[in-house]
Amino acid sequence: MDNAHTLDLARSLFPGGVNSPVRSFQAVGGEPLPIARGGGAQVFDADGRPYVDFVGAFGPLLLGHAHPAVVEAVQRAAAAGTAFGALTPGEVALGQRIQDATGLERLRFVNSGTEATMTAIRLARAATGREFVVKFDGCYHGHSDGLLARAGSGVATLGLSDSAGVPPSVAALTAVLPYNDPAALSAWFAAHADQTAAVIVEPMAANMGLVLPEEPFLAALRALPRAHGTLLVADEVITGFRLHYGLSGVLPEADLVCLGKIIGGGLPVGAVGGRADVMALLAPEGPVYQAGTLSGNPLVMAAGAATLDVLFAGTPYLRAAESARHLEDGLTTAIRRAGVPASVVRCGSMLTLFWRSTPPRDYTEARQSDTAAFGRFHRAMRDAGVLLPPSQFETWFVSAAHSEANVDATVEAAAAALRAAMA
Ligand SMILES: *Cc1c(COP(=O)(O)O)cnc(C)c1O
Repeated sequence: MDNAHTLDLARSLFPGGVNSPVRSFQAVGGEPLPIARGGGAQVFDADGRPYVDFVGAFGPLLLGHAHPAVVEAVQRAAAAGTAFGALTPGEVALGQRIQDATGLERLRFVNSGTEATMTAIRLARAATGREFVVKFDGCYHGHSDGLLARAGSGVATLGLSDSAGVPPSVAALTAVLPYNDPAALSAWFAAHADQTAAVIVEPMAANMGLVLPEEPFLAALRALPRAHGTLLVADEVITGFRLHYGLSGVLPEADLVCLGKIIGGGLPVGAVGGRADVMALLAPEGPVYQAGTLSGNPLVMAAGAATLDVLFAGTPYLRAAESARHLEDGLTTAIRRAGVPASVVRCGSMLTLFWRSTPPRDYTEARQSDTAAFGRFHRAMRDAGVLLPPSQFETWFVSAAHSEANVDATVEAAAAALRAAMA
């Protein structure tokens, strides 16, 4: 089945032809690109055309596509049975690796990051007996009702839903504050301290493009929730095991941590973990219900453990970050030479090229990027054989499989694409 045929059939099967919205390429003015296979840093579309891939499945594939150790682990697990609906040694094996690396006292595996954050919020509400949740504009925590809420930027207002189908009464329990704004967080706590169950945050915001936290904001996150009996939830679904072996280290004070993506090695996964006293509220130990037919699935656990075993050596982190640094340098030079109003933000193996002259500090600034120009840049890169995440507001993921040649080819393509996109 080639690209055209796949897309044709997909449109008659799935809304928008896809099973997750960003895959539609709508944000860059394109149509879904069917990917048939991948290996290392490359993917191939259904016509057989290769691309250097910086989507990385939106985060999980720090080792690149079809890493031999991961493939072998999944094959072995599949041959031994794909699901049991019972405790398995595989869950213990991956759980131990995560606990050793993160210090999380207790864990629960779920099937997605969305489930992890949803469960963390439920736990925080049960632990505190309070209802309000604070999130930050531009941070993504999955698609559960309460966490899709977002307000007009700039002011501490109660959430208006960002999605049809979320009742205003549900959205009203979520306050949305600007990222990197400690004063807004102080003001919120001055007014609502004894009603706030949780503050949930991406320690590095990677879902509005990459926006790095500033020290005063982190200081407020460390101090204010704790001072008011509010739980701090660090959403490390992207950052967990991405920068080094373990959590990002940015918010060690977090009471609960959400994980996903890399810990499943490219299979569907999530986990919530943290303080033993809070986690003890989960059924069957406690009164907070949460369950999953396929949670802790043996194939997922095997892929995750194999991935962590390769990462444990540390060299994949060095390789991925080194490639990302070369990419940052090359892109920065190309931007300067082309005279384009763009900027590059990087942390470890995560990177975003923003079509605005300075890196944004929050979602309001990120949204000032020229998304039409980014769309033209994206198309030109794709035509040159480089697949970037199809939105200005997604982070590029460099893997340990990206070679110097991959990066050089990307920089060369970008030099031309930046100019083409300006026109
Ligand atoms: C991807 C992501 C999620 C949601 O994870 P899914 O597995 O897509 O449900 C939650 N939080 C963050 C920070 C993410 O990047």
